[in-house]
This record gives sequence, C-alpha cells and structure tokens, in this order.
Amino acid sequence: MTRKKSQQSNSNDVKKKGSSGKEEVFYGIPVSPGFVIGKAFKFENDIVPAIPSYDIKQSQVPLEIARFETALIATRKQILDIQKKISEAMGTEHAEIFNAHLLVIEDRVLIEEVIKILEKELKNIEHVFLKVSEKYGEIFSRINDEYLRERASDIKDVTKRVLSNLMGQAQKDLSQLDEEVIVVAHDISPSDTALMHRDNVIGFATDIGGPTSHTAIMARTLDIPAVVGLHDASKQIKSDVTVIIDGNRGTLIVNPSKQTLERYGKEKTRLELYEEELAQLRTLPAQTQDGYCINIAANIEMPEDVPSVMAHGAQGIGLYRTEFFYMNRRDLPTEDEHYEAYFNVAKKIYPNYVIIRTVDLGGDKFLSQLDVPQEMNPYLGWRAIRFCLAQTDFFKVQLRAILRASSLGNIKMMYPMISGIGEVRKANALLEEVKQELSREGISYDPDMEVGAMIEVPSAALTADIIAKEVDFFSVGTNDLIQYSMAVDRVNERIAYLYEPSHPAILRLIKYVVDIAHKENIWVGVCGEMASEPALALMLIGLGIDELSCSSVCIPELKRTIRSVSYSDIRHMADSIFNLTDPREILNKANELIREKVPGFLQL
Ligand code: PEP
Ligand code: MG
Repeated sequence: MTRKKSQQSNSNDVKKKGSSGKEEVFYGIPVSPGFVIGKAFKFENDIVPAIPSYDIKQSQVPLEIARFETALIATRKQILDIQKKISEAMGTEHAEIFNAHLLVIEDRVLIEEVIKILEKELKNIEHVFLKVSEKYGEIFSRINDEYLRERASDIKDVTKRVLSNLMGQAQKDLSQLDEEVIVVAHDISPSDTALMHRDNVIGFATDIGGPTSHTAIMARTLDIPAVVGLHDASKQIKSDVTVIIDGNRGTLIVNPSKQTLERYGKEKTRLELYEEELAQLRTLPAQTQDGYCINIAANIEMPEDVPSVMAHGAQGIGLYRTEFFYMNRRDLPTEDEHYEAYFNVAKKIYPNYVIIRTVDLGGDKFLSQLDVPQEMNPYLGWRAIRFCLAQTDFFKVQLRAILRASSLGNIKMMYPMISGIGEVRKANALLEEVKQELSREGISYDPDMEVGAMIEVPSAALTADIIAKEVDFFSVGTNDLIQYSMAVDRVNERIAYLYEPSHPAILRLIKYVVDIAHKENIWVGVCGEMASEPALALMLIGLGIDELSCSSVCIPELKRTIRSVSYSDIRHMADSIFNLTDPREILNKANELIREKVPGFLQL
C-alpha cells in the first residue's frame, strides 16, 4: 500500500486526553494511507434525537414560547453560518440550498400553529413542534409537484436542527467544523464528503463501506488517512476523545497509551523521510530501468483537486468524476456552469490531457434534484449511461458543455458503465447530434476529441472486440469490473474479503481487453483503484496497459516502483502469474518483485 506523511492535530487537548482512559483498538479496512492523531468528532447525521413528551402547566406556556424563540434564533444563526462557509468554499449557488431552510423557520403560519397547539394541549414545546412539523412535512410530501415535494425534506432537516437546539445538543455538519478533527461516523455519504471542510477534517473512520466506495475514494483524493468497515466502532466512541486513524494498517485506536503514541512518533519520522525521498520523483517519468515508459495520470472528483494532480507529478487526468458537481445543490448545473468547470480544469492541466467521464449517477451517488425512484439494487439499476440515455435532455446539457470546453484541444471524454455496443452507438449518435447543433450555432469544439468507453461490466469486457470499433480508447474501471464479475458489492464491508483484484478471472478479463484494444489499434488505461497499488500496477503494466490513473497521492510511490524495475522483469512476472490459481499467490508474486527490486520499499 502506498504510504504518506503522518500528521498530528494542532489541538492542544490531544495529548492530555490521550493519557487518560483505556486504549482500545478497532480493526477495519485501510482505504486511505498515512496515519493521523487527533480529536474525534462523532458525526451523527442520520440520528434524530429522542424527543421527550410531558405535560406543562398553564403558567409555563410563556417559558416554553421563549425556549422556542431562542431555538429558532440559534437555528437561524447556524444556517446563516453554514451558508457563509459553503458560499466561501464552493460559491454562492451551492449556499442557496439553505434559503429554503431559512424560509421554514421564518414561516409565520407554522410558528403560530405551534403556539396555538402549545396553549391548547399544554405539552412541552419539543413535542408540539415535532407534531406540527411532521404534519407539514406529510402534506408537502404528498403534493404532486416536484419543487414543493422537496420542501418536505427541508422541513425535516430544519426540524432536526430546531429540536437539537431545544434540547441543547446542536449537531454540526461537516462544513461547519472550526477546528481539526477526525470524523467518526456510522456512514458518510459521498455528498457529505463533498461538503467536508477540507482543512479541518484530518481523517475519518466509518462503520460501513469498502475500499472502493466513493467515500473511500474521496478520502484518498483529499489526501487524508481513512479506515472503513469498523463494524460498530462509532457507537462506542464519544466526541473529543483522542484517536489515531492508521490508514496503512486499517486500525482506529481510541485513547492511545503512552507507548502507542511513542511508537507512532517514531513511525512519523520514518514516514517523513520516505516522503521527502518520494517528492524528488515528481518531475521524473514513470520509466523502467530498461527504458519502457508508462503514462501515469490522476483521478479527480472536483476542479479543486487539480493542484494536487500537478503537485504529485501526474501526466494528465485519466478520470474526472463529474457527478460531484451535481451534489449538495437544489437545482441541476446549467450548461454554462458545466462548461466553466470543464474549461478551467482543462486550462489548468494544459498541455496535458483530461478525460471527462460523463455523469455516473446511481449506485452510491444519488441526487435529490432528480426524481429517481429508490431501487432494490442501485448498482445494477438505473445508473450512469443507462440513466443518461433515458434522459437525453439532461445528458445533452453535459455533452454540449464538454464539447464547448474541448476547443482547447486537450479534452477526451468517456462513457461509464457501458454494457454493450448498443449504448455506445446511442451515446455517440447523441454526441453527433450535439456537434451538429453547435456547428449550426457557430460554436467551436474539437472535432477530433477522443471518445472512450469504460470497461467495467463483464459483458463489455467480453465484447471489447465489437466496442473497440466505435471508440478511440478504453478505460478499465476495475472498481466496478471486480464488483460485477465477482458479485461483490463494493460498499459492503462484510464481503470485502472477496474483493480480490488479483483473482485469475479479473486478470484474464483485463488481458483479453488489452489484447483486443491493441489489435484494434486503440489504447487502454485503468482508472480503478487497482492502478494505485504498486504490486497490482506492475501486473497491469505486465498485461500491456498503456495508462494508469489513480488518486494523486498514490503517484509518487507508483513512480518509484516503476523506476526501480525493468520491463522484462515485469513481463516475466506477468507471464508467470497465469500459471497460478490462488489470488494471494498471484499477489505475492508481484510483491516478491517489489521486495527484490525496490530499494527501501517501506514495509510496516
Ligand atoms: C471504476 O469503477 O473502477 C471507476 C473508476 O469508476 P467509479 O469508481 O467512479 O465507479
Ligand atoms: Mg465505475
């Protein structure tokens, strides 16, 4: 696993609290390397506080009204604070979501009804407020108008906030943190991670999730240590205790002992030296000892990630996941907003390339703006290209924006979750339609923009010969290819042990795709997390992959590995693994090569 520098929170409280309380270690799945010591912040977004219900006397009514008013004022202040922070970090349009929340707490009809019922029923204010807001939420959720139906969720969010204030337990959200913390939660959705305060969240740990869940991927992009799949650890941890997240070993250590802190202190020095060494490789090519070069690119989720791509020495962006652009907002992005984001990314990375992936909604990334019914199997359902081909007006907005931005000449585009040639043909026909529209309107675009298909569904891999004829390149999405080939839900920690990239079935599929691509004279990359692990990356190079794209933070160690071995060693290793049957034995073979050839490869 790739490793990176260690961190220690700036909080002065940390050492004091660490020396009291008994040390406890929880074991999970390491998903983002490095370790960090800091103060826990328990994030309980999904928990509604238990609401008390009791009778009050007539004489207590004014007091209850005063409590209500104080809670409304506090809630208003919190919402304005969030708005300000989001607007500074992400722009005013993202902050506008909260206007609707302000409208709820300022709604005279709702407030007067609460007071009327309070006076009539003589029950505590929490009980009355919950009852009235539930009634309103229910009415809105039944209205046959998408916009008004959305108000039901605003009422629910605000109700939770007001009740928390009434009961003196205000819950911060992840954009509101004002000090460095390690977030501990049962789960964190990709949209929560998108909202995270980038400077103040220094690590996170969740009870559920697997190594390729989008929350885990986001941790790597943000370059913060993370562990998932900790079962019920979050239930046993309180805010403010000292914890260590070890994203190399997959542990969460609560109340670390003096000895543990000393051990991590020593490791910190070791990792820092290692980091310094890796940093020197930034501008060097990923070239083997015998001169074979491989293209190393980075994956990004947001335009803000581009500086890290450059700082880590990537030669381009092999995957721009555009769906985060749609999150944490009430409306859909306009064509101009899309265009500006893509153009800016392309400009910053120029003359290197960026591969923009058309939107991959569904799976673990849902949007409240779209009226998509809940499905039993979201990963097998109305996801990615399937959704886009059914909602062509929605899809065309993005295609137009990508094409407009392509006039710079360094944009490539690819379709996610292709399962067969029919989808490629339909998407390409739509792209052609959009090109003609733009030409008629006199808007320039790159007529030769390369268009690729992601290979992440076994049916696409096995029909690669057919699909290759309609595209300029393939990008193998191993996160999904493994999920779909091995029937392993990528976000389910209970079966994460079955998620084996070195399984012969996966290696055979990839080899087949590479051989076909090269026969058809197109190039093929891998942009799944498999590309970020040095041992697996060597296997992929040995199978003939032309480009590896992974989280920026993993690139220096990948370069170091590639620069230490020869291509003939890699080919030899890759040939030999096809005689092996056990995924662990196969992985071991590649690790042997690393142990033998990569000097000082850090073993923890
Ligand atoms: C993949 O499936 O490997 C991939 C890169 O796409 P995502 O992780 O966004 O599904
Ligand atoms: Mg995928």
